[in-house]
Parts: sequence; C-alpha cells; structure tokens
Amino acid sequence: ASRMKSPQQILHQVFGYSSFRPPQGQIIDTVVDGGDALVLMPTGGGKSLCYQVPALIRPGCAVVISPLIALMQDQVDAMRLLGVKAAFLNSTVSTEEVENIQHQLRSGELDLLYIAPERLVQARTLQLLREIDIALFAIDEAHCVSQWGHDFRADYLQLSLLHELFSSVPRIALTATADARTREEIIARLYLDEAKQFISGFDRPNIQYRIALKYNAKQQLLKFLQKEHNDDAGIVYCLSRKKTEDIASWLTEKGFNALPYHAGLGSEIRERHQSRFLREDGIIIVATIAFGMGIDKPDVRFVAHLDMPKTVESYYQETGRAGRDGLPANAWLIYGLQDVIKLRQMMASSDGNEEYKRAEQHRLNAMLGFCEITSCRRQVLLSYFGEKLEEPCRNCDTCLEPVDTWNGTEACRMAISAAFRTDQRFGVNHLIDVLRGSHSDKIFQFEHQNLPVYGIGKDLDNNRWRSVYRQLVARGYMSVDLDRFGALRLEEKCRPLLRGEENIELRKDNKVKVVKQQTKIQLAAEVDIALWEALRDCRRMFAEDLSVPPYVVFHDSTLQEMCLRLPQTMEDFEMLSGVGERKLEKYGPGFIRVINDHLSS
Ligand code: ADP
Ligand code: ZN
Repeated sequence: ASRMKSPQQILHQVFGYSSFRPPQGQIIDTVVDGGDALVLMPTGGGKSLCYQVPALIRPGCAVVISPLIALMQDQVDAMRLLGVKAAFLNSTVSTEEVENIQHQLRSGELDLLYIAPERLVQARTLQLLREIDIALFAIDEAHCVSQWGHDFRADYLQLSLLHELFSSVPRIALTATADARTREEIIARLYLDEAKQFISGFDRPNIQYRIALKYNAKQQLLKFLQKEHNDDAGIVYCLSRKKTEDIASWLTEKGFNALPYHAGLGSEIRERHQSRFLREDGIIIVATIAFGMGIDKPDVRFVAHLDMPKTVESYYQETGRAGRDGLPANAWLIYGLQDVIKLRQMMASSDGNEEYKRAEQHRLNAMLGFCEITSCRRQVLLSYFGEKLEEPCRNCDTCLEPVDTWNGTEACRMAISAAFRTDQRFGVNHLIDVLRGSHSDKIFQFEHQNLPVYGIGKDLDNNRWRSVYRQLVARGYMSVDLDRFGALRLEEKCRPLLRGEENIELRKDNKVKVVKQQTKIQLAAEVDIALWEALRDCRRMFAEDLSVPPYVVFHDSTLQEMCLRLPQTMEDFEMLSGVGERKLEKYGPGFIRVINDHLSS
C-alpha cells in the first residue's frame, strides 16, 4: 500500500463514493493510526470499507480473515476491478498459485490478502507473514469466535495468536451479529481489550417489514412476486427440504427462475445454485436456513418467509440479507397457528435439556408476539436489540396500514369454554366445529352436540374463529399440548378473562394486504425501462467477459443513477456514485455509448 493519500481521496478515487457513512471515517482513522477496532454494524452497513481503505493507506499488505471460502474469489475479483491488488489463500488454491502469491507478498506487490482461518494458523503461513510488512489484520465475521453462537468455528479461537505474534499490527474485528455477550466474548478471546468499539444501530431503514396471515401460501407468494418482484433476485425460506423443492418447481412452472437449496442436496448442486444466484439476474433461491451466512449479494430485493422463523434474532438475520445495497427491499412473512404447532413439535423432539427447551419456547413466543403486534414492527424489532426508535417507522405494514381491532372478549370466552368443556383434549378444528354447531362425525362420536357451548358461535365464520384461537395462543392464554396432537389447553392467564375482569382487543386479520410498495413505483415513474434494460445488458456483457457477478461491475443503484442523470461524457460519468478511476476508464465508454444510442434512437 502506502500511497500517502487521505481516506477521503481513496474513497473517491478508488471506490467512487463521495462521503463516508457516519462511523466509517472514525473507524478508518483509528486503524490508519495503528489502533485496534471492534466494529458492529448491521448487514449492508459498509463494514468492508473499514479495512479496505486503511489497507490502501498503511504500508504493507492487509490480511483479511474470513470463513467464507466460497466468496473469496468474488471478493478478490471485485477488488481487482477497482484496481486494488488482491489475492486469496484457501484450500481451493493450487500449489502453483500459492507460490505465485508468496512471491507477490515478499516483493510487496499485494494490498489485500483474503485468507481462511485454518490456513492462517498453519506454521508455514505464519512464518511467511512474519517476513513481510503487514498493514493490518481484519477479522471478518468475528462472532464465529463465540461458542454460544451458531456460527462457531474452532479455528477462530486460534486467532488469539495474532495478538501475540504480531503485537504491533492493528487488528480490526467486524461482525453484524453480536449481542452484549458475544461482544464480550470477541473481546476476551481475541485480546481486543484496547480496541475502540464502534457499535452502530441495527436499523435497516430500506427494508419494509410485512407480516400477514397464511391462508393459501402458494397463491399469496405468487401474487406478491408477480405484483412486486417480477424480475428480482430474492430468497424464499421454508422450514422443510421437501417444501423448498416443491415451491421451487412450482415457481418455475409459473415462469420464475427458482432454484432449491438445502443441506440434503449434493454439494455440487448447492454450489451451482448459489453461483447462479450470485451471477445471474433475477434468480430466486428457495431455501431452508442452510442458505445464508455470508451471502454478499447486494441486490437481493426480497426475503419471503413461508414459515415462521423460530426466533426474532433469526428473523432479523434472514431478512437482513435483503437490500444490502441500500435500495428499497421487502421482508415478507406469512404465518398461521399451524406454524406455531409445528415449531413447538420440533422443539419438543429436539435434543437439549429442559432449561434449553424452555428458553427456546420463550424465544418462539417472542417471535409470535412480534407477528401479532398492532404497532410499528420496526420499533419492536429494534427494541429486541436494546435500541429505541422514537417515532413509528412508516415503512412497515402496521405503519402503512394501521391494523383494525375488535372487542374479542366475548368470543375469547366462548373459545376458551369450548376447550374447557371438551376436557382440553381437542385441536382447533374440532373446537371450531363445536362452536359453530357442525354435524361432523366426530361431534356425534363424542356427543358434543349436547354441550352448552355447542353452536353458540355461529355468528363468526371459520377464519374468524381460527384467528381468535391463534391470538389466544400467541398471547399465552392457551397453549398447544403436543402429547395430544395439538390439543388446546387453558393457561392460568385465562382466569381473569373468564371471570369477566378483563377485556381483550383482537387484531382483525385482513385477508388481502395491499401495501403500497415504494420500490417499483419509484423506478417505473422516473426511469425509462428500455434504457434500464439496455444498461443491464451492457453490465451483463462486461460481467460475463470477466466471469464475475453483474453487481461487481456496477450496483443497481449506479445503473439507476445512469438512468436518471443520463451522463454522456466521461466527466459526467465520473460523478456517479460507485464509479472510481478504474471503472471509469474501463466501463465508462461502453455505458456512455449505450446511453447515447438510447437518446438518439
Ligand atoms: P457489510 O459488509 O457491512 O454488510 P458492505 O461492506 O458489503 O456491507 O457494504 C454494503 C454496500 O454499501 C456495498 O455495496 C458498499 O459498496 C456500499 N457502501 C459502503 N460504504 C459506502 C459509502 N461510504 N458510500 C456509498 N456506498 C457505500
Ligand atoms: Zn413501522
């Protein structure tokens, strides 16, 4: 490195951005001055620049430790396109290439070296690193050091030796997922006591949170995609492997490019699907949670959940894969009582002691509560991470379309009585049959037609009763008995309600949620679609030529700016965000030609 330029100059010339986002500048100053840093930023916050800029300023090569081997090639390609001299070392690199990289390192030709943790801690690698100038160590996905988290990597524990062997080299640890406990663990295990801490908020303002009731999952998904995400890349999460395959092939029938992804598919297929998702435009991945960590694709426009995640934390993490580029994106979830029953069953049959299961149960209830709230979702979501959002966000479903409520006191009493009178041995379907006075075989088999509650609930339809039971379970008035195939049981909390000491407001479930989507409207109103498509074609050609994903050439946001500003000279083109010196020179003329052709046609 060592070009004696200011961070601001590097940001502008190399990356083509005009200003740092708030904590970036301070973080970079800290590391450039040789200090350690612990960086906690949400996905898409811009963590990479925090070590990439110092890498270009401090003398020597910066070493970036990352567990995401599959992404290193793309990361290095992206750096090279910016004119940064970068390479990576992991188990996929040939011996010959390793020698080549060693040579480059020794002659000081590299600015950035990405390396897998297990590779770094090998004696020969450490020996090599001691022979050269090192600008800094960046420890990406630093939460992998935490034994509590689900991303734990034993190799990460050994990274403590960096502190001992390279005591004068600044270290910067970065992560998007760290509660207070994980944070303490990172500091302790990596000896980062002296590190300056930079903790940014968790809010992802460009993500629109929407949660609706599940009544016909496939049709709901289809409608959502057709209306709002016709050509967009996105992720659909399902709970089971089989379902991912069903949904993927069904979406394909409907004309979408959808691919399944789960741990049961061979690694070759998984890799192929992931790589198509990264490289082609508009691919939808239908996945179990096996798909996710380190998906660096910036232009994922939606994350759809067809089943409810187990915890608010995983919901936040999974939805966080949308909209890393800062453009509007959707987090869309549908759920129903059935999800809760299924998740509880999965938990009950999982390993783990009682205490663990209770904690899991607690977390599931929090998720359920989050689905049911009638106030701003973002405020509640952020409060889980100890953050306070003063005003409702105006970019979630409950803000955009305030939820109607109704006085459900009487209905709840009936619903609870029905369970009580049938000895708490029946599931929701039968209880509704009792309330609505159905003539089903089961009713007569158990002689439930003689109960005082039989037929007292004819005024409400099936869906409304399901909604009542769901909300009773979600709010802890009733619970699901897993030993009895989903029978509904009364909880202590029922008493005041039954005694008439409590009123209860229930949520009205709107079947069809039409929320105004700002994403598409914005693009369609101001942007000429023909030009947009022509620019995407141009980008695709460059990308194929270089065998990199299209977003490595330019992000959607840069193409959008081209559509709006119509740059026709190199001077104008340079003003676009995301256009640095190298990309200006390489791709500027090609894109300018497309714009000129479009304007003169
Ligand atoms: P993270 O690793 O925190 O998820 P990235 O480092 O991938 O996020 O950055 C997210 C996106 O934001 C990238 O596309 C990046 O180029 C862009 N970005 C980062 N910093 C800036 C900035 N100061 N100005 C404009 N865009 C930025
Ligand atoms: Zn809101």
